[in-house]
Amino acid sequence: MSNIRVRIAPSPTGKFQIGNARTALFNFLFAKKSGGTFIVRMEDTDQSRSTKESEENILKSMDWLGLSWDEGPTIEGDGYKGSFGPYRQVERLNTYDEYINMLINEGKAYKCFCTTEELEEERSKQKEKGIAAPKYSGKCKNLSKEEVEANIKEGMPFTVRFIIKPEKVKFNDLVKGDVEIDMSNYGDPVLVRSDGMPLYNFVVVIDDLLMKITHVIRGEDHISNTPIQIQIHEALGNTPPKFGHIPLTLTPDKKKLSKRHGAVSIDEYREMGYLKEALINFLVLLGWSSGNEQEIYSLEELINVFDLSRMQKSNAIFDIERLNWLNGIWIRKKDINEIVDLSKPYFEKMNVKSDQEYLNKIMLLIRDRLKYLSQIPELTDYFFNEGRLDKQKLVFKKSTAETTKKGLEAACNKLSSLGRWPESTEDFSTILAGAVADNGMANGDVFWPIRYSLSFSETSPSPAELLWALPKEVSLTRIKKAIDAL
Ligand code: GLU
Repeated sequence: MSNIRVRIAPSPTGKFQIGNARTALFNFLFAKKSGGTFIVRMEDTDQSRSTKESEENILKSMDWLGLSWDEGPTIEGDGYKGSFGPYRQVERLNTYDEYINMLINEGKAYKCFCTTEELEEERSKQKEKGIAAPKYSGKCKNLSKEEVEANIKEGMPFTVRFIIKPEKVKFNDLVKGDVEIDMSNYGDPVLVRSDGMPLYNFVVVIDDLLMKITHVIRGEDHISNTPIQIQIHEALGNTPPKFGHIPLTLTPDKKKLSKRHGAVSIDEYREMGYLKEALINFLVLLGWSSGNEQEIYSLEELINVFDLSRMQKSNAIFDIERLNWLNGIWIRKKDINEIVDLSKPYFEKMNVKSDQEYLNKIMLLIRDRLKYLSQIPELTDYFFNEGRLDKQKLVFKKSTAETTKKGLEAACNKLSSLGRWPESTEDFSTILAGAVADNGMANGDVFWPIRYSLSFSETSPSPAELLWALPKEVSLTRIKKAIDAL
């Protein structure tokens, strides 16, 4: 194993989303490619919003996608694996206390007694002066030891703030290249809230430090936090990890992905019948390309070819049509038994109790049209239930009701007189072609109405395929009903 250690630090405040999954995938690939370690850490210090269900949803979704983690919480129970734990921040509060005291004692952080009203007043005064981005003045930094003690004795609530060095912070971002941020625009950030709860920019540094994280790969929305974290690392005498900020994923109209634009959680895509292979393939192409023409990748292949330096620098666009296309490809790549197994929940919803052989036949016929598995009920209903027969639709454009009836009767006679029901679609095609030829008819007098009478649809698989898949009695009954209707 190499000493490369990366992590994702999701907040368990909702379901595992497409954006989280993409960040997780890039971290996973980066770790696996280099023989490193992939860590999951729950960023759950916001206790009012964090839930156990969200944690479980995140872990289960990752597990389903195949993004297995080497260290982190376990799916079941409250345990964890790995020797740098605990991996839930609420279980690490004592550790954060130690470091905060250290920073205060060394004069790198201070207690701030400013009330919300005072801070608000400061801000509005700065705004009045025309300062576009007001920042905290840092006045509590100058309180004497005695003043601080007196305030505490009085029971005044306080936050802890970090002393920002007003200099330029430069770092070489693994994705974006050289970044330089002027810290003189930053106020001293709060590290610990007045209720004692430590905040993101602080805990993330302590965790990355203690978990020996070597590379932080995360969304570009965190780039403005990075110089703060670098300064905290330095204040603790630590060399910061390397950072890589991946561009965001936006909707086609360049907005942030949100519920308004459709499904956002991995769960929802899974329920709609998107395969994990397709989602992985889709997610990696949101911001990464191999540089050649290849677009279809399995997770295993990606582990070999992934290279962070090939990340795009511009935002990725979430295109559902591309996901549908990829899902179709992965559906067709699967062994037929496997895809039928994956489809069982959708057949069950239809109360279908058919055997595997029948379902396999149906799947062979419809899978080219399937974009996602939850389309199964709408695409397969006629295999199990009789539909509504529309007399007009039975008759092909160039045909008449009379010849259609004749065509159906000819085909029905041929089919009924068969000693053995054929087992191939070719045989059924030959029989239908025979009915056309023997009676001097046009294809449309036979093929069209047979298809429609069997599927109650004008866009179903071919009539020979339908005859091959449907049970003999069902086919003959439906054709007879169509004849009677004309
Ligand atoms: N909880 C943060 C997020 O999910 C973690 C950011 C980080 O990786 O530092 O965006």
